[in-house]
Amino acid sequence: MKEKNAKIRETAERQIRELFRQAESARQELADRYVKLAWSLSTKTKTPIPRELKRRFCRKCLSYFVPGRNCRVRVSKGKVVCYCLNCRTFRRFVYK
Ligand SMILES: [Zn+2]
Repeated sequence: MKEKNAKIRETAERQIRELFRQAESARQELADRYVKLAWSLSTKTKTPIPRELKRRFCRKCLSYFVPGRNCRVRVSKGKVVCYCLNCRTFRRFVYK
């Protein structure tokens, strides 16, 4: 059973990465849909979204971040602060 879960997660992670890759070149509405799909895949299969992709979208409204368009990015004291212009929430990331 454990092995089966690992397999499911592996596939899910691959799909999540693929969705984000496509979101990168898609227009906003489509990119948002890809993020929502990736998110539901992640919650359904309990697969964590890869760290580097976590900062690419808003955790609250699940919109794909396009810096300068729907989010503002600031770097201060070793932290990255993303301000979502859709739902007006801040997200902080520790920069490593
Ligand atoms: Zn948002």
